[in-house]
Amino acid sequence: MSGRSSDQVDPFRLASQGRGLTLHLPLSALPRLGEVLLSTQGEVVARLDFRRDEAGHCVLDGNLAARVSLRCQRCLESMMHEVSHDFTTIIVATDAEAARLQQDYDVHVIENEDGRLDLPAFIEDELLLSLPIVPLHEGEAACGTPAGAVGGGPAVEVAAGDSGSAVKRPNPFAALAALKKDGNTH
Ligand SMILES: [Zn+2]
Repeated sequence: MSGRSSDQVDPFRLASQGRGLTLHLPLSALPRLGEVLLSTQGEVVARLDFRRDEAGHCVLDGNLAARVSLRCQRCLESMMHEVSHDFTTIIVATDAEAARLQQDYDVHVIENEDGRLDLPAFIEDELLLSLPIVPLHEGEAACGTPAGAVGGGPAVEVAAGDSGSAVKRPNPFAALAALKKDGNTH
């Protein structure tokens, strides 16, 4: 086939071999994801482990790690969101298999006739599913502009004292730090 070999793999063979792989994809290469992000700078690191379970199913255990910028739905400012998304999916080749299994498992049906998995498209789907439906800064303090103050308060606050140049700005890393405090490690 003419597809780039690094983008498309045979998941069934990899599962039989018990193989794993790690991909680094620039966010700018994922166009549907780009529509929901404020910036496409950065990358997603995908760790994918293929195996066969006792029933012979092709199982994909994966983890996606990325830092993405979303729009906070409370203050409408940007916020950094740290993705660390673990998932397990059964890969099947036909809709009939999917119908049989999808009550008990997350199932992904290979759409290519040649039975190859398009890794960037698959990773993009999983990443989109992992994002919060309503992104919000963690806590009022991290939020840029409380909803009640929109249009009202002063645009710039100058710190008291001699350092007249200090400007209070929302700290995009506060939300990240809050996320990390939740023990969101894998
Ligand atoms: Zn906010």
